[in-house]
Amino acid sequence: MSETIFVILTLIIATMVFLCIIIGFVRFFVEPAYVLIVNKPLYIHWYPIPKKIKPSQKLLLEREFSFYRKLSDKRKAYFEHRVKSFISNYQFHGKGIEVTEEMMIITAGTYVMLTFGMRFYLTPLFRDIIIYPNQYESALTGQSHKGEFNPRMKAVVFSWDDFLLGHKTTNDNVNLGLHEFGHVLHFHSKKVNGDPSASIFYDEFNEIVKYYDDAALSLELVQKGYFREYAYENQFEFLAVLLEHFFESPQIFKTEHPELYEGVKKMINFKEEYLN
Ligand SMILES: [Zn+2]
Repeated sequence: MSETIFVILTLIIATMVFLCIIIGFVRFFVEPAYVLIVNKPLYIHWYPIPKKIKPSQKLLLEREFSFYRKLSDKRKAYFEHRVKSFISNYQFHGKGIEVTEEMMIITAGTYVMLTFGMRFYLTPLFRDIIIYPNQYESALTGQSHKGEFNPRMKAVVFSWDDFLLGHKTTNDNVNLGLHEFGHVLHFHSKKVNGDPSASIFYDEFNEIVKYYDDAALSLELVQKGYFREYAYENQFEFLAVLLEHFFESPQIFKTEHPELYEGVKKMINFKEEYLN
């Protein structure tokens, strides 16, 4: 009897070791090669135990995100899993304002929409989401801000008035949530190793930024006037503003600057078929 148990245990351990070797091989050899060739992670969504959100939270997603409404049922479940993970992973703090379920869902939904094509969507670069009712004095600059990503404090800060205005107005290419989370992803791509989505983002950003760095390409963008002036402040703002345009007026973006549009699409591994 004890011999049988010993054999079973040995088999279990051997299987586990074998699986670990296979997973390690795929993770460290197969996937990096795949990313190098096709510029996509091997897979994006795989949740053995998908997390569920409350019906009231589902209703909020339906009401607030046309992106979510257009997803298939299978992808809606992925989206919900990520929203739930986002809310449990980050701490929300209200400064002079009570953080409601609606605020958490809109913030999480914005982040999940932006990162839906990425595998590792939760970044360790921030921990807290600090919400003020309106514009606030930044601890970082001492000036009045609508929002910021503060890597030293591991915090993303928002004025809720401005977040909501950007979220509700879907055709002006201004979206504070996408903008600040865009800065977060940019930092993430520079700092985090071993994340295929981050390395794709990093490589593709280096292509995209040529439109900012190259005088002739940049002049062409300025002359067409599609992106707001703030895009040309520096490389970081350029990226954040591109992401706002990508989600708010994709058709115009695609028509006006098709190559740049493709670059942003690859950078975040966005799939248009999500929305068909
Ligand atoms: Zn910015």
